[in-house]
Amino acid sequence: MHRTRVRREPARLAGLRLALALGLAAAGCLHMPTPLAQSVRGSVGVPHHGVLTDASALPARGPGFVRWRADDVRWGNPRLVAAITRAAARVAAEAPGGEPLVVGDLAQRHGGQAPHHRSHRTGRDADLLFYTTTPDGRPRRNPGFLRFEPDGLAPTPDGGFVRLDVARVWLLVRALLLEPEAEIQWLFASRALEGLLLEEARARAEPEALVARAASVLRQPGDSAPHDDHLHLRIACTPEEEVAGCEGGGRRWRWLRAAPAPTKLEDAALLAALLSDAPAPGGAASF
Ligand SMILES: [Zn+2]
Repeated sequence: MHRTRVRREPARLAGLRLALALGLAAAGCLHMPTPLAQSVRGSVGVPHHGVLTDASALPARGPGFVRWRADDVRWGNPRLVAAITRAAARVAAEAPGGEPLVVGDLAQRHGGQAPHHRSHRTGRDADLLFYTTTPDGRPRRNPGFLRFEPDGLAPTPDGGFVRLDVARVWLLVRALLLEPEAEIQWLFASRALEGLLLEEARARAEPEALVARAASVLRQPGDSAPHDDHLHLRIACTPEEEVAGCEGGGRRWRWLRAAPAPTKLEDAALLAALLSDAPAPGGAASF
């Protein structure tokens, strides 16, 4: 008869293993895009892979803006919704008489994949249509995602043209950058449109620091459409949001609030920390 000798693990070590497993699971949760974990909330994950809790809805219309479509892809991080509504109202006040800002998709109520988008999953992205005029400068509402040529004109389906309202689009960029809570990470736009906007800013003798910020965040993305048909707004994670699971999405500009120092513990360090807290061998078990 063959008898297997079962080595019994001391209770203390078994408890440590359990504590370690729980500790690692909790640490892992920080980066798991799920709305189920209590400490993980808001914009969770990266823009292309994540979810959203505690979202705000952008109304169908408000002072200086109107939504392009009446669907439910209108939810976002409250900072994103506030940035859009406040910036649109500011442009309407600074340059009255034009058509409202037309706002495309934000995110679904709980984030995740939104139809027709790769990003837009964590409530940090919004598509803003450009302000437009007729070719001779009269207000005309942007009919939706027309592709602008480097000269600022876009052909319309009816065979005509609309003109980019560079002055008002610049006012929008400026208003977004001046929003204290917005923490703009990117304003994706084609290189040609970025050039037109920065030219406008310099012609207005805007402060050099503001123009430099605009030049940093205005960017033609390298991995998707050139964005000659809309301005794609992405806000950065705040330090508090990073602690709650918000991740990545681009450069951390020096004018954004600083991110918390990473506190990633290696397994060995975590084990050492757990062991240092354990009762001495032979002592009474306290867990
Ligand atoms: Zn976009």
